[in-house]
Amino acid sequence: MKIIRSLSEMKAARAAAGGSVGFVPTMGCLHKGHMSLVELSKKNNTATIVSIFVNPTQFGPREDFAKYPRNETRDIAMMENVGVNIAFLPQAEEIYPDGFDTWVEVKGITDKLEGAARLGHFRGVTTVCSKLFNIVQPDRAYFGQKDAQQVLVIKKMVSDLNLNLEIITGQTQREPDGLAMSSRNMYLNQAERRAASVLCKALEKAAALYLSGEHHAERLKKVMAELIVAEPLANMEYISIANTSSLHELELIDSPALVSLAVRIGRTRLIDNILLAQPACV
Ligand code: AMP
Repeated sequence: MKIIRSLSEMKAARAAAGGSVGFVPTMGCLHKGHMSLVELSKKNNTATIVSIFVNPTQFGPREDFAKYPRNETRDIAMMENVGVNIAFLPQAEEIYPDGFDTWVEVKGITDKLEGAARLGHFRGVTTVCSKLFNIVQPDRAYFGQKDAQQVLVIKKMVSDLNLNLEIITGQTQREPDGLAMSSRNMYLNQAERRAASVLCKALEKAAALYLSGEHHAERLKKVMAELIVAEPLANMEYISIANTSSLHELELIDSPALVSLAVRIGRTRLIDNILLAQPACV
């Protein structure tokens, strides 16, 4: 596996790569969720490139940029083990040099859910992804359904800007108790870790009720909220049942629906989601 830190070296390596290139952008502290995207990429491409970059512009001023978990040595070993071809670890000074002043922003769907809760977050995501796509020039880029809104936003950017790559979505990978894998799970102490399974339990409950014939979104949300309120370490931020493409909230679930939620467990903010009419999370 090649480890590349400079943009010029990355561009040269891309130009030299024959065949198709799959790209998995990450913020590191890799887990099985990231690795499942790598496996998808390896199946369909000649070479797989993984980037690790904790992107400062997608964090709000009161968010966890400084303490976001970083473990380059372990990440490099994991990437090497699964057969990643290039680990791309760009430096913030090169991605955002002095005077950097150009932003890529998707409107509309970024007003809702994570975009409403984390102002400026998606502008940071779309800006850095545009830059990474331009540098790496992948044929396909892989994103996790765990961040469902991010997938929609990236697909919209790729379509609106006629970018020349395909966006592939990988399923959410979960711990045995259903908790969606996330680098931020490292923040949880033992009691919080146990409490964190409430997100998935709430989603499962919604799926079960839906399958039993309850199609009123408010009723599903109420039952989900009751479960979360009953968990002393949990603080609910939002619960949403929205159309999967517009993200408009639904009253009656009569179109494909994304059920998503953000919950603080202690001081750690976790998100999760399911698509309705699909199997529940565990
Ligand atoms: P991150 O490092 O958190 O920015 O995530 C990098 C990529 O991995 C994003 O496309 C995420 O959606 C994806 N990802 C994160 N957690 C999971 C998971 N549990 N299952 C599948 N994909 C995931």
